[in-house]
Amino acid sequence: MLSDISIWQNLMIMIGEATIIIIVGMFLLSFLVVAISFYSIKNGQFYFPTILKPGLVMTEGFAKGICRFFGLDDQELVTFFIRLHNKMNTVPFSKIPYNKRAIFLPQCLRNAQCPAHLTPEGLVCRRCGRCEIGAHIDELENLGYMVWIAPGSTLIKRMVKKYRPEGIIGVGCLMEVKEGLELTDKMSIVGMGVLTATDGCVETTMNWNDLLEVALLSSPE
Ligand code: SF4
Repeated sequence: MLSDISIWQNLMIMIGEATIIIIVGMFLLSFLVVAISFYSIKNGQFYFPTILKPGLVMTEGFAKGICRFFGLDDQELVTFFIRLHNKMNTVPFSKIPYNKRAIFLPQCLRNAQCPAHLTPEGLVCRRCGRCEIGAHIDELENLGYMVWIAPGSTLIKRMVKKYRPEGIIGVGCLMEVKEGLELTDKMSIVGMGVLTATDGCVETTMNWNDLLEVALLSSPE
């Protein structure tokens, strides 16, 4: 009976020690990730990108906590994560033919009086000229892109399942793009993110040249 209790106590001590080691390890790793990220942001370069990307994914909560503790802007960390993700995906994305790529635009880019109807394949632009979406969809579709105006992530998952693009450009606000890139990673699709210039739910704006710059990426071959 006594030996049962001591085995149980030893087990609890081992679990406690392992938990402390994991928490301290995560904290140290997060600290390192934040330090490298901010050093990279400061110098406009990516240091140790292959370590940083999984590091940022693994320690996201801790890393944001450290940023807040030191009064640093954790949104800068998310922006950095998106830039890093794009940088690492630039070459594989460039190799994908235009007709195997998809673009998902957020519905908030539309004019408030937009006459587009919601269909099972998202909002279908009627080229009314009230916003810039119509003209740019034509330009991108002429290149070979599949373009959707997405009311939410459910449509994205459905279109990906149906049309199987190999590369995706997601346009949206900071958190939408970050979550979209994590989703593309999970689906083993090469994802690129483009941020809107303003946040909000209605009549947001974006720099279309940012999107075209990514969309026109192509292999020198
Ligand atoms: S151009 Fe298209 S998306 Fe923009 S407001 Fe008109 S119908 Fe809506």
